[in-house]
Parts: sequence; structure tokens; C-alpha cells
Amino acid sequence: MEINLKDKTYIVTGGSKGIGRAIVVELVQAGANVAFTFNKGADDAEILVNELKQYPSKVKKYQLDITHFNKIPEFIDQVVSDFEIVDGIINNAGITKDNLFADMTIAEWDSVIDTNLTAMFHINKHIIPYFLKQLNGKIINISSASGLSSPRGQANYSASKAGVIALTKTLAKEYAWANISVNAVAPGYISTAMTDFPKEKIQGIKKLIPLKRFGKTEEVAYLVVFLLSEYSNYINGQTIVIDGGILNSLI
Ligand code: NDP
Repeated sequence: MEINLKDKTYIVTGGSKGIGRAIVVELVQAGANVAFTFNKGADDAEILVNELKQYPSKVKKYQLDITHFNKIPEFIDQVVSDFEIVDGIINNAGITKDNLFADMTIAEWDSVIDTNLTAMFHINKHIIPYFLKQLNGKIINISSASGLSSPRGQANYSASKAGVIALTKTLAKEYAWANISVNAVAPGYISTAMTDFPKEKIQGIKKLIPLKRFGKTEEVAYLVVFLLSEYSNYINGQTIVIDGGILNSLI
């Protein structure tokens, strides 16, 4: 089984670093064209585009703050105009603003819900009409193990990521007739800027993970590439957990 995504085009939000960056790299290595967004990471995005020049794929970066919802239609239109056909989208951009509920501000709640969930509503709302026209499309929404387990200090984040799972299931039901599949990926602890905790905290978390390590960004990217490939065509409305076994070890 070899995954070849030559002549396919995908949009990746938050492709400048972390998991999104690894997804961009693996997609390009599988032969796909990629339109990816960055927000504040202009330099990271530029470095990535240059790094990928060695491949025949077309790779373009777009500055987009996904919480500026009114900019989303323009962004999707621009990508469609630049690439003509879009085969799938990976809604990856996300943030944490952890705090115990007693101390959590409405600003911390709103910014996490807006970035992780409401932006996904707007992006899917504007990309799905294109997929409907071509009767084809794959949507991968990046959720989190926190969307299933709801840890202390993550009321906002867990609610947003549980919302992503619920949104994914509804969209999968509503659009399967049009050959549009919608799945979620729920990573556990993956080594990125988001999990750059103090050393002692990392050591403590590793002890709870059956595999005794954080996941690598490319391990999430391999799963995403599989879910975009023809080999996953019968998978729809699912949330695939990739967490080294931590969710399963909590009870
Ligand atoms: P990083 O912090 O490494 O990267 C986050 C990405 O999201 C960056 O590309 C950033 O862009 C982008 N981003 C953040 N806010 C916005 C915004 N308002 N508009 C546009 N882009 C934005 O995070 P990870 O790679 O770790 O996380 C990626 C996804 O995976 C997130 O949805 C996260 O919730 C999820 N996840 C991560 C886990 C982990 O352990 N790392 C575990 C479970 C889920 P820029 O830098 O250009 O501003």
C-alpha cells in the first residue's frame, strides 16, 4: 500500500509550525499541492515554503487570523482561484488558554472557543459549497484527547474540542450523500510549542502515558495523510485518537 496524493490539493490551517507544519510536509512528500495558513508566524511560514521548493508540488502560504471570520470567505475564494480544485481541508489551527474554572475569564473562554470551534464553523461553511459542486471532498478537523477526557484547567479547551467532535459527526451525516467525508483526529500529548511545559511537568505526564513519551508531530501527520487517501474512503464521522494509550489508561 503506497499513498500517492499527486495532483491533489489540500488546505491546512495553522501550517507554520507544530502539527500543521508536519501535515504540510508529509502532504508535499506524498505529492500533494498545499495551501497553508499562518497567523503570526510569517518567518516560520517563509522558511517552510523555501524548504519545500525541492519538491514538484505547488505550495502557497496565506496570512489569516481565523478569528477574523469575515476574512474567511475571501481566503477560501483566493485558494480556489489559485489552485482551481481543492480536494480536502485540514482544520488544524488552535490554541490553549488554560486556567482553573474559578479563575477563567470570559476573554479566555471566548478566544479559545472562537479559535478552535467557531472558526471551524466558518471555514467549513465556506469550503463545503465547493466540495458540493465537485461531489467530492475530505474534511479533517483536529480535535484533542481533551475533547474526550476534559482535564482540570481546560474547561474552555475541552469544550471547544468536544464541540469539534460533535460538529464533525453532524457534518459527516449531512454531507455523506455528496461523497464528502468528515473525520476528526484527537491527539494526546504531542511535542510542540503548545506542550512546551516545564521539564518536571513533562516527566510527570510521560509516566501516565503507556508509551512513556510524547507523540511526534509527524506521527499525527501520517494519520492525516492516511485519512485523506483513497484507503480511508469508508471512514466517515469518526474521531481517531492518537495518544500513546493515555486515554485508555485513565480508568
Ligand atoms: P502550535 O502552537 O505549535 O501551532 C498552532 C498553529 O495554529 C500555528 O500554526 C498558529 O499560527 C496557528 N494559529 C493559532 N491561532 C491562530 C489564529 N487565530 N489564526 C490562525 N492561525 C492560528 O500548536 P500544535 O501544533 O500543538 O496544535 C495544532 C492543533 O492540534 C491545535 O488545534 C491543537 O489544539 C491540536 N492539538 C495539539 C496537541 C498537542 O499536544 N500539541 C494535542 C491535541 C490537539 P502562527 O504560529 O502563525 O500564529
